[in-house]
Amino acid sequence: MMQTVVIVGGGSAGWLTAGIIAARHNPHHKDGQGTRVILLESPDVANLGVGEGTWPTMRDTLRQIGLSEVEFLRCCDVSFKQGSQFIGWQKGEGESYYHPFSPPGGYGSINLASHWLDRRADINFVDAVCPQGILCDMGLAPKTPQTPEYAFSLNYGYHLNAGKFVELLQRHCVEKLGVEYQLGHVDQVLPAENGDIAALCLSSGEKICGDLFVDCTGFAALLIGKHYQVPFVSQRDCLFNDTALVVQAGYASEDAPIASCTKSTAQSSGWIWDIPLPTRRGIGHVFSSQHLSLEKAEEELQRYLNADSGLAKGQPSPRKIEFQPGHRDSFWHKNCVAVGVSAGFVEPLEASALVLIEKSAEFIGNNLPQDRAAMAVVAKRFNQITRRYWIEIIDFLKLHYVLSERTDSQYWRDHSQAQSIPNSLRDSLELWRSQVPWISDTNNRIELFSAASIQYVLYGMGFVTEVKSSRYRSWSKDAELAGRLMRDNLGKTEILMASQPKNRDLLNLVRGG
Ligand SMILES: Cc1cc2nc3c(=O)[nH]c(=O)nc-3n(C[C@H](O)[C@H](O)[C@H](O)COP(=O)(O)OP(=O)(O)OC[C@H]3O[C@@H](n4cnc5c(N)ncnc54)[C@H](O)[C@@H]3O)c2cc1C
Repeated sequence: MMQTVVIVGGGSAGWLTAGIIAARHNPHHKDGQGTRVILLESPDVANLGVGEGTWPTMRDTLRQIGLSEVEFLRCCDVSFKQGSQFIGWQKGEGESYYHPFSPPGGYGSINLASHWLDRRADINFVDAVCPQGILCDMGLAPKTPQTPEYAFSLNYGYHLNAGKFVELLQRHCVEKLGVEYQLGHVDQVLPAENGDIAALCLSSGEKICGDLFVDCTGFAALLIGKHYQVPFVSQRDCLFNDTALVVQAGYASEDAPIASCTKSTAQSSGWIWDIPLPTRRGIGHVFSSQHLSLEKAEEELQRYLNADSGLAKGQPSPRKIEFQPGHRDSFWHKNCVAVGVSAGFVEPLEASALVLIEKSAEFIGNNLPQDRAAMAVVAKRFNQITRRYWIEIIDFLKLHYVLSERTDSQYWRDHSQAQSIPNSLRDSLELWRSQVPWISDTNNRIELFSAASIQYVLYGMGFVTEVKSSRYRSWSKDAELAGRLMRDNLGKTEILMASQPKNRDLLNLVRGG
């Protein structure tokens, strides 16, 4: 029987996994009915301390583990994220487009993108089908002071302070969800006869036994990598970025506006993220060390910081983080499952790391095997699903590069080389030349990136879908509905422009209240 889950690692992967499993399986642990959840964290290894942009899925995750949104907003220096703005990706001339979190109007029943194709000369895709681009331009919030916790006028995720987030999760998991927290550096794995992990030895000499071990040790990948030697699948030939320079930049004034989205600005050999929090901005340059020297990367980052009058002068020196882009070949091996960076990491272009942690922990929580035989089946399914997620993540991130028309550096030219593009993405692009992406393309119930997300990036980057006329005629019955939805969208946009508060104003109200 599954009596004890041992999670190794106290970064956001460890605590989110602990919270999700404990919220489902721990409540009666003290009466001997629930599952014991132990989280071990090394006092000697710092966690990453980055990872500050989330998806809207985080709202559900926090609600499910019983956290109040107001407490979260107050404790973690949070702002609302309504999507991402990509600047300079298409031609490198400062042009931009949005990938918002709200899908096009009528999504699920009608494919508005196919009807927008006729109007593309008059209006850009996002503004035709969704109010969120214009709201982001204006720095408006996705909700009002009257909107209940976790509800919205427009779909949103968060920008947050990663360090404070981990502290809040730890407090909540220990005090409210019965997770047992122990500081201790794991320095030995004790195997069982069947190859499972029987126990972990801490440097203090203490032994921690368990039935399932979750590897949340970040880049150390202590269990899945060092102990089990599960192969690592490098993605360096496809997604070249492997180094980040990170700065926590202060605002020039306390009431500086807070942007409603993450800004991702393309550079000569990478891109700069800009994540606005109420008290500072997290800014980082992620680039390919094969294409750009550290000095040049620092110069580009400095230029970005200097050009922004909203930032205080004289920012701290950047912190450097190196990583190998890629993921494990499998993620659940024997009685060990890897969640978070230990399972894999590629550049944070669409903030897909935290959402993958949420999805992985949710799967483990929903399918916590009750005996060892069931575990083998659950492991197989977990591996299938997670591999599928990684293919999607890699295809979707690479899409941003493949659609770019930039040729101004070797980096951008290399990104368009056929051998760097996965076959799965090449197939999809072939299809999208004559067919607008839609839900039925894959019939995949567990996809990470919806057809809506693909549409926003494709048409934001100026991709052309040439639909044959016979196919077009079959849409004509929907044409009236499509016209109405696009008119409704313009009306809704006007209303929201007048009714939504500024991000800063709403956050000041919540944080001060
Ligand atoms: C530059 C950069 C930007 C990012 N931006 C985003 C973003 O915007 N959005 C997003 O979703 N994700 C982002 N990520 C990813 C995100 O930071 C991670 O997914 C997230 O922080 C989870 O990390 P983790 O918990 O897996 O690892 P870590 O935070 O590294 O935690 C590892 C833990 O393991 C413990 N540990 C290690 N060895 C041992 C041992 N021997 N014994 C006991 N404990 C041990 C450590 O003490 C630590 O607590 C970014 C990552 C990088 C590198």
